[in-house]
Amino acid sequence: MAPPFPAVVLDLDGTLTVPGTTRAAPGVVALVEALHARGVPLAVATSASTPVARRVLDELGLLGCVDSVAGRGLDGVDAGKTAVVGEALLGLGIAAAEPGTPMLGDSPVDLAAARAHDLVPVGVAWGGSRPDALRAAGARVVLEHPDELWALGAC
Ligand SMILES: [Mg+2]
Repeated sequence: MAPPFPAVVLDLDGTLTVPGTTRAAPGVVALVEALHARGVPLAVATSASTPVARRVLDELGLLGCVDSVAGRGLDGVDAGKTAVVGEALLGLGIAAAEPGTPMLGDSPVDLAAARAHDLVPVGVAWGGSRPDALRAAGARVVLEHPDELWALGAC
């Protein structure tokens, strides 16, 4: 069976985790594990530093599922989410995303970055932003639960 998405890009805080914590948001661990099991290349793009992001993913048990982790550099410079998403894609060997590649995020900034890279902007309702704010920022859909992502795929 073909992977249901060409790749998936994920924000970290408020998307994989409960906002402001390192605890997994309900349902996301199962989603990431299932995407990985289906052969979907996975990238995390975060404004946290890359080492912190790797540690959080490790604590969630997801580091082995994620193929690319991009965050703020060790120099502390935050290049902005659009640049970080580009770096996350390059980590997957992707210079230009295939149509139907979703990016999940809980902030309007995530959705703007997704649109800048021709990713499908997918908002998540369990993070730090209200669904109407995510829709106003261009979210094609706002997920109430991680499992709703499958409805976007070809599966
Ligand atoms: Mg976030």
